[in-house]
Amino acid sequence: MTQSVDVVVVGGGQAGLAAGYHLRRQGIDFTILDADPAPGGAWQHMWDSLHLFSPADHSSLPGRLMPTQPGETYPDTGHVVDYLADYEKRYDLPVQHGARVGAVRRDGDRLLVEADSSTWRARAVISATGTWSRPFVPAVPGRGLFAGRQLHTVNYRRPADFAELGVPPAGGWGRVVVVGGGNSGAQIAADLALAGDVTVTWATRRPPRFLPDDIDGRALFDVATARRRALDAGRGDTGGVASLGDIVAVPPVRAARDAGLLRVQPMFPRLTATGIRWADGSRSDADAIVWCTGFRPALAHLAPLDLRGPRGHVATAGTRAVGEPRLHLLGYGDWTGPASATLIGVGRPARDAARDIAQQLSS
Ligand code: FAD
Repeated sequence: MTQSVDVVVVGGGQAGLAAGYHLRRQGIDFTILDADPAPGGAWQHMWDSLHLFSPADHSSLPGRLMPTQPGETYPDTGHVVDYLADYEKRYDLPVQHGARVGAVRRDGDRLLVEADSSTWRARAVISATGTWSRPFVPAVPGRGLFAGRQLHTVNYRRPADFAELGVPPAGGWGRVVVVGGGNSGAQIAADLALAGDVTVTWATRRPPRFLPDDIDGRALFDVATARRRALDAGRGDTGGVASLGDIVAVPPVRAARDAGLLRVQPMFPRLTATGIRWADGSRSDADAIVWCTGFRPALAHLAPLDLRGPRGHVATAGTRAVGEPRLHLLGYGDWTGPASATLIGVGRPARDAARDIAQQLSS
C-alpha cells in the first residue's frame, strides 16, 4: 500500500534527525526512514577507541545541548549514540528503523519513495544517507593479488582483532599497513601503534599535515563559520580549514606521534602477494592493509532521478537539488553546506532546508 506524507527524510543519522527537528518546527507532516535497525547513524559502527574531536558543547544538534560525558573532554562514540537515541525520543521524531530506501522516483507532482516494506508518495524528500555505507578504496595495482587481510575504516574495530595475524618467529600481532593521510588514517595508525604488539607502517600520498596541537573541532567550526559569513556577505572566500592542515592532533595521535611511533612512508605504487612494493623497488611483507581512504556519498537510491554529476555529487543550490527542486540533500560534505557533515554544523542547513520546503509546500 502506498502512503502519503508531505516530506520523507531518507536517513535517520544526525542529519536526518536535525531535519526532523526543523520540519516539526515548521509544522510539516513527515516521516524518517532509516536503514539501520537502531538509532545512532554511522556512530554505532565506528571503532572502539574513537572520540569526537570537539567537546560535547560543540557537538550538539539544534535544540538540545549534548551533555558532557563524565571524565571525558571529548565524548566517545557510545556517548554520541546515546545522545542521538535520546534526541530521537525527546522530540518524538517519527523514525522507522530497518527501513532501507531503494529508490526515489518522480511520480507526477509527487516523489515516490520505495523502501523495503513500504512505499511513500511525498511532496518533498530530504536525502540524509551519509557516506559510511560507501567506503572508497583506490585502485592500486596488485590489490587483488595481496593474500593478506584487507579492510577499510568501516571494518576496523580494535588492535586485538589483529592478534592472530602474527606469524612466528616474528610473533607479535602482525605487520599492518595503514593507508591514508587523513584523520581516520592517523587515528587508526595511532590506535594500532599504541597497542604495542602490532608493527604499523603508515602510507600517505603526501606527508601528513598535523593541525597545531591547540586546534580541535571548535576552531575548525569557527573557520567554517567565518567562511560562511564572508560568503553570505559577498566578501569573497576566506578559505576553509585545508590551509591549516588535515589532521586534528587528538590526544592518542599526539601521543603516538610524539613517541615516534607513527612511521610514515610515501604511498606505495603496487601491492604484491605478500605485501608492499615501494617506489624505490624495495619490498615489505605485510599481514594486513587498512584502507583509510575515505568515502563517497551514499546516493544509489537517487539513481532514478538521474541527477549525478562529477565525483558522484548532485548539483545543489543550498541544500536543494538543481535538477529536482523537490529534493534536498543534507550532510555528506561541504558541498551541501559548510560543515554540513558535522554534528554542530548540520543544524543550519537543516533549518534552511525545512524553511525552503515549507515555502514550497505553501505556494
Ligand atoms: P550517517 O551518520 O552515516 O547517517 C546516515 C543514516 O542513513 C544511517 O543511519 C543509515 O542507516 C541511513 N541510510 C543510508 N542509506 C540509506 C537508505 N538507502 N535508506 C534509508 N536509510 C539509509 N563529526 C563531528 O561533528 N565531530 C567529530 O568528531 C567527527 N568525527 C568523525 C570521525 C569519523 C571516523 C568519521 C567517519 C566522521 C566523523 N565526523 C565527525 C563526521 C560526521 O559527523 C559523521 O560522519 C556523521 O555520522 C554524519 O552524519 P549523517 O547523518 O550525515 O550520516
